[in-house]
Amino acid sequence: MKKTSRPRSDMLESLHDDIVITILCKLSSTASSPSDFFAVLHTCKRLNKLGVHPLVLSKSCSNALVLRAKNWCEEAHRFLKLCVNAGNTEAYYILGMIRFYCLQNRGGGASLMAKAAIRSHAPALYSLALIQFNGSGGVKNDKDLRAGVALCARAAFLGHIDALRELGHCLQDGYGVRKNIPEGRRFLLQANAREFASVLRVLHHKPPPYDDVVHPQQPSNESEFSELSDPTDFNSYEFRRMHPVHRFLVEWFGSGEMVPGQGLRMCSYRTCGRPETRRNEFRRCSGCGKVNYCSRGCQAHDWRVHHKVECAPMDEWIGNTSNDVEGDDVDGGDGVGDDRMVEIGEDKVDGIEI
Ligand SMILES: [Zn+2]
Ligand SMILES: [Zn+2]
Repeated sequence: MKKTSRPRSDMLESLHDDIVITILCKLSSTASSPSDFFAVLHTCKRLNKLGVHPLVLSKSCSNALVLRAKNWCEEAHRFLKLCVNAGNTEAYYILGMIRFYCLQNRGGGASLMAKAAIRSHAPALYSLALIQFNGSGGVKNDKDLRAGVALCARAAFLGHIDALRELGHCLQDGYGVRKNIPEGRRFLLQANAREFASVLRVLHHKPPPYDDVVHPQQPSNESEFSELSDPTDFNSYEFRRMHPVHRFLVEWFGSGEMVPGQGLRMCSYRTCGRPETRRNEFRRCSGCGKVNYCSRGCQAHDWRVHHKVECAPMDEWIGNTSNDVEGDDVDGGDGVGDDRMVEIGEDKVDGIEI
């Protein structure tokens, strides 16, 4: 049957630029992937031109900005830079993370993340906190625990769950801040309550898109979500609780083509994707000595979903009662319960409560 309809371009031509830009702003701020947005831009020359209007680029959401690592190219880099120039806070953070960890441009990456942090971008504040805690991009002496705590506190104030947990432990341990066990406990309870609320949200079939402030977090009942823990499934629950840039990092280093560097390891929480920037930067599980984490947040999530059933003391396997692992200067953790994380090369045992 022959269809008779007016060409779509005629309808589009009749719309004023401001209206088209408003529509494109809405699209770029709600797109679930970059292809959702670019498919529309490729419709016609006019949309292609208006699609890169600074107002549109400034509204692009994280899902529209993070492409697959295998598609990374100079053009993609240029597009993110355009978004940065348009003042897009998400783009500051995403390009900052990619530059810092993937392109190993530490100064440029941290600077972009700092610009996002100034605009109260919670994941940027938290990422910068981890960089300070770990001394990432520098030597061990570059660790600045006080700066880490200050950044963490700002992210926690914005409701960032991992930051709340990190801050709680810092207060409980007197790590980079004056020891205050009741206050630390309060932050940990707050983190758990927020986590629980996020899980309930998912259980009531309201899967939240990635939210900068309140992340959908780990389920308390692992079996309900066990089928979503496939590390190759980027739509899985675990990935949905992370900022989309972590998917990029996981793909970037997981492809086997790019490696963090000689002797450098990835965070063992498989949906994190952060690599070490120097040897022995990350903390190691004192229970088995086989896994390493960039943060307590990653350790806590991995413990619940994967590592709890995998962790077995090395002593069981090698018949060695020493806590030394691979020659590192490890202060002995007691390996009891959930307290299983130690700082490598420091006289410090980080307790963790999950
Ligand atoms: Zn991590
Ligand atoms: Zn372990």
